[in-house]
Amino acid sequence: MRVYISADIEGTAGVSGRSQTAVTGEGYQAACRLMTEEVNAAVDGAFRGGAHEVVVNDSHGQMLNIILELLDPRADLLHGAPKPWSMVEGLDGSFDLLVCTGYHARAGSAGTLAHTYSSAVVHEVTLCGAPVGEFALNAYYAGSYGVRAGAVAGDDELEREVRALSGAIRFARVKEARGRFGALSKGAERSRAMIRDAVADACSAQDLPVLAPPEMPDLVATFMHPGQAQVAALCPGSERVSPVSLRFRHPEFREVFRALRAMITLASTV
Ligand SMILES: [Zn+2]
Repeated sequence: MRVYISADIEGTAGVSGRSQTAVTGEGYQAACRLMTEEVNAAVDGAFRGGAHEVVVNDSHGQMLNIILELLDPRADLLHGAPKPWSMVEGLDGSFDLLVCTGYHARAGSAGTLAHTYSSAVVHEVTLCGAPVGEFALNAYYAGSYGVRAGAVAGDDELEREVRALSGAIRFARVKEARGRFGALSKGAERSRAMIRDAVADACSAQDLPVLAPPEMPDLVATFMHPGQAQVAALCPGSERVSPVSLRFRHPEFREVFRALRAMITLASTV
């Protein structure tokens, strides 16, 4: 069994401040250690659950957060940015299970440090009318290859998002949101034990879903201001549906995902 771990930082227990997530910010180095140890718990859970190979994708910011010398030596690490497929770079049908650690709730929700790919440019993303965050988009990407969504770690707001997609996905609720920049975190060791158990359990589970993307994915990305939408509209195939919103439709979900990546990258230049 090959397990793919997409590791973000904002959903890690003990992380709630913007400075902790910024390379030059106060508390960043400590946050990287917390992130790395949560990843280690997921790696250990995967091997306990029967995995023979685990690939970890550092999925936050410049994607150079995970401390390799502290990482479980059984795992391989994808690092650096930009990677074309970002938080799901390298994920394809050769994997059996998607695991997400340090994940956070979507833009527009009440979760700790909630955003969708970019807190600077993205106000909201919807897919066929339903608001979606990074977990849903990345899980649909995995689903487009037939890879099951196995386990997720993050706060209680993210848990609501995951549960809305499937009640079978194992969830390690390592903290509860207490406002945008606050959280009630479990102790680090308890958080890691929850993650280890959730991932090990997911590896042997028979009830996990492949989250298949909608048949005609219809995505609307709403940006923070019209200037961002104006530049994002350079993405071929996008359609400006309001001063701040762009629509993109295509039968292939991965084309929609790619367009969203392109639109956000363009909007970020403004
Ligand atoms: Zn993120």
